[in-house]
Amino acid sequence: MKIYSFPWGGIPFEDMTVPPRNTSVVAFLPGISVIPLVQHTGSRAYPIVSVGDFVKEGMLVGRGQGPGSANVHATVPGRVVRMVSWKMAEGHINDALVIRMEGTFEKLGKPEEIFPWQGLSFYELQRLISEYGIVEMEGIGRPVSEMFSSLHSLKEPYTLVLRCVFDDPWLAADYVLCRERIKAVVEGSVIAAVAARVSRIVFAVSYKEQDLGAELLAEAESVSGGLPLSMVLVSSRYPQRNRRELEYALGLYEKKEGVKFGSSLFLGPATAAAVHDAIKLKKPILDRYVAVGGGAVKTPQVMKVRIGTRIGEIFAECGGFVDKPKWIATGSPLRGRAVVDLDEPVVKTTYGVFAILEGQMGSTVVRNCIGCGECRMVCPVRLDPEFLFKSIAAKQREGPVWDRAGECHGCGCCEVVCPSRLPLSTTIVNSVYGGHSDVS
Ligand code: SF4
Ligand code: SF4
Repeated sequence: MKIYSFPWGGIPFEDMTVPPRNTSVVAFLPGISVIPLVQHTGSRAYPIVSVGDFVKEGMLVGRGQGPGSANVHATVPGRVVRMVSWKMAEGHINDALVIRMEGTFEKLGKPEEIFPWQGLSFYELQRLISEYGIVEMEGIGRPVSEMFSSLHSLKEPYTLVLRCVFDDPWLAADYVLCRERIKAVVEGSVIAAVAARVSRIVFAVSYKEQDLGAELLAEAESVSGGLPLSMVLVSSRYPQRNRRELEYALGLYEKKEGVKFGSSLFLGPATAAAVHDAIKLKKPILDRYVAVGGGAVKTPQVMKVRIGTRIGEIFAECGGFVDKPKWIATGSPLRGRAVVDLDEPVVKTTYGVFAILEGQMGSTVVRNCIGCGECRMVCPVRLDPEFLFKSIAAKQREGPVWDRAGECHGCGCCEVVCPSRLPLSTTIVNSVYGGHSDVS
């Protein structure tokens, strides 16, 4: 099969410190869980329980308040022992409920009750997805029901694209999820397609994982209800998974195959599985597959972790550190967000947690630019990261090069290749977006 790709820049990204992708390990249930009232970059949920209240596993504890806000649920049974002000990895001040685990579990260890969904209207599906607090399980974590309803004003057809593109080895958790919960990922994609009223599903798969793509497609054919399906093989060069680079590759496929996708709605496998659980199991997001690793971690592994588990506990379950880490962050070293405190919890969007040593990528000794031009060579949107970085430092933000700064999607390629270890993408994204790039 033909492999589609973006035309310029990018990097082959390898990292020997990521966990192996063969299986997941179930993390211990947290004795103390920390449940933030906002777990994405939207507005905060309103708490509907108080200190001293008993909460059940999966119980609604924070109600979303309008656009950009999502419901929040307890992930273990127990008592609310405190409300704290919590600083998230992105630097936002957040409020969190601290729950001490006690009592019995409603769902864990019990046979799963399956609820049929085929007769439900798109409106009812969206309502349930909203009720169970489903947000994108990566990036900025937009509420999924809002993403679906915003598409309805579009005149042209649109396509749900399931992003099974593993261009960054730190997406190991999503890969293991696809392998271990392939039925949930596929049926969740089909449910999402019906809820969003799309006209087609495309599985965008890195060519290195084409076996997985064939399995996803075969599985989807039995549950899609006649919805057209396609698999598009794309390159594994980073940042192929980004919206812009993926749209380019899909455009090439459309031309070659003579099909029309229209606008694309991108979902990751973890989000599709969460949609499945909300609709078929009537279950909010209780846990997340997380890749735990980095050179400072003794035993890197992919773990299935309860939301609210403190990051320090996860590292302890991986054997602790080989030496004092220089940098601890969530996400991927390419786009990591520093962890302020090891008591910070895993949230719905946490797909990776890593700790690295002095001298490894990210723990940088910044030197001067040597003018090598490597950053320009890898920028997939043909920006000049060196110029932008120096302009920001000099507070001179004008001219035709600067006018294109908003096209930066924070992929981090420039920063990875810079021999002087300058914080190029971090500085550009912070300057242009105030810390968040919304185009990944
Ligand atoms: S982070 Fe921005 S400037 Fe750097 S390579 Fe990516 S798109 Fe280009
Ligand atoms: S890669 Fe780094 S050292 Fe080379 S030109 Fe770009 S900013 Fe300067």
